[in-house]
Amino acid sequence: MLIDSHCHLDFPELAAEEDAVVTRARDAGIAAMLTIGTRLDSFDKVRAVAERHANIWCSVGVHPHEAKEEGQRTPDRLVALAQHPKVVGIGETGLDYFYEHSPRDEQAASFRAHIAAARESGLPLIVHTRDADDDTAAILRAEMARGAFTGLIHCFSSGPVVAQAALELGMSISISGIVTFKAAEALRGIVRDIPLDRLLVETDAPYLAPVPKRGKRNEPAFVAHTAAKVAELKGVSMAELEQATTDNFFRLFTKADRNVLAA
Ligand SMILES: [Zn+2]
Ligand SMILES: [Zn+2]
Repeated sequence: MLIDSHCHLDFPELAAEEDAVVTRARDAGIAAMLTIGTRLDSFDKVRAVAERHANIWCSVGVHPHEAKEEGQRTPDRLVALAQHPKVVGIGETGLDYFYEHSPRDEQAASFRAHIAAARESGLPLIVHTRDADDDTAAILRAEMARGAFTGLIHCFSSGPVVAQAALELGMSISISGIVTFKAAEALRGIVRDIPLDRLLVETDAPYLAPVPKRGKRNEPAFVAHTAAKVAELKGVSMAELEQATTDNFFRLFTKADRNVLAA
């Protein structure tokens, strides 16, 4: 049993065949999925996906790419939307200096508002960070000092500075299909050093399909390829990896009811 801790089932590439995507995931042993919010003006669609399936939860947030248009200055709207029973996390939020679709200061302000929402709601923060290692680590450390929150770094592709900060702050780290890419040797080195009880796996579908599906549209069923690579790096069996990542998911996303999986 595996859980895809980060996918975008509302994106058109997947929404067009939602039921088939969910069925293929089940057939591949994917017990549950977390579909992620990226804009508040499309959050209704994200939540609707979660409402249609017992084993799909969702998050609410504004992606750093969207900070220019929808960046939050206060946690209020996020906290209000997070009241819904299927909303189990805050994000994705963070800093993306690779694309830099939004000014850095607006990304940072919205990131801090999301952290405040995570603190206030008690839900874990889902952090997106790319080419922004030092600023991401600095904000997480500064905000944790102001008041505790939980969370994870999703689609981890940063260097040791972010991994170290996340682990020290009690956060988890979610690994995507990037870990299967030939050029990702540095990432594989970091994954080997992440304690098994802090690891999650994800697809970030429809993007970043793992080898051997690389280049295709990604979907939750493919997370098994990523999990197999992580098991290899950690030197554990696939069964151990499945158990650990599933336990880790429910320990972090405490609002997600594990009992629905048995139903
Ligand atoms: Zn992301
Ligand atoms: Zn995402």
